[in-house]
Amino acid sequence: MRKKIVAGNWKMNKSLPEALELVGAIKTLSYSNEVQLIVVPPFLYAKTLVDELSGTQVSVGVQNCAKQEKGAFTGEVSASMIQSVGVDYVIIGHSERRAYFSENNQDLALKVDLALANHLTPIYCCGEIIEERNSGNYFEVVKSQISEGIFHLSATQIQKCIIAYEPVWAIGTGVTATPEQAQEMHQFIRNLLKEKYGEADASSISILYGGSCNPQNAKELFALPDVDGGLIGGASLVAEDFIAIANSF
Ligand code: PEP
Repeated sequence: MRKKIVAGNWKMNKSLPEALELVGAIKTLSYSNEVQLIVVPPFLYAKTLVDELSGTQVSVGVQNCAKQEKGAFTGEVSASMIQSVGVDYVIIGHSERRAYFSENNQDLALKVDLALANHLTPIYCCGEIIEERNSGNYFEVVKSQISEGIFHLSATQIQKCIIAYEPVWAIGTGVTATPEQAQEMHQFIRNLLKEKYGEADASSISILYGGSCNPQNAKELFALPDVDGGLIGGASLVAEDFIAIANSF
């Protein structure tokens, strides 16, 4: 059975005291132990939160990693550094990284390799912008993101990845993909995985939905056959909402 996962991408939000308050509140709330909960704070707080959450079932991720292994890359944080502070997950290819930091599928493939080489689980993001959806080009866009970003991996490696489908037009907009739109794309992604790696591997990989997912719509989305959880932005900044989403399976 595929893992159920809810990951909260905090983006560039929260001071350290606010971050501690949020995880403090998350720790007091209960959710099913079948769900893997992941908080994804800014780099600066990752180690503190790893310590804060030790002994709980909540894991810590980060929002990016460098595409280089190490060296003279001012301002960058490498996958091995991330791993060395006890972080387990790394978001790779979020649409904001693609759009504002010009990250392309080739850069992202390098990051995925470095993440895996350092025992981090990549949460690889894909998703089309509104123009691509309106022009009917969205399957092609997602197919390129997936095939260029992760299809160089072996079957053993791909099984260690999580995929997040995040239609860009749904991120932070309050416009959620309909259940039909979400299932159609998740099934499409799973079929791509099947063609490349076979049925067994494809059916073991978790595919998360992201884009204005909240406690009101999570149940309907998580009930879809190919949706295995969510990558949550805004709603992950409020402990009660985040846990309500985790309780929506
Ligand atoms: C995200 O940025 O990954 C995201 C899903 O944001 P939101 O939930 O706020 O739409």
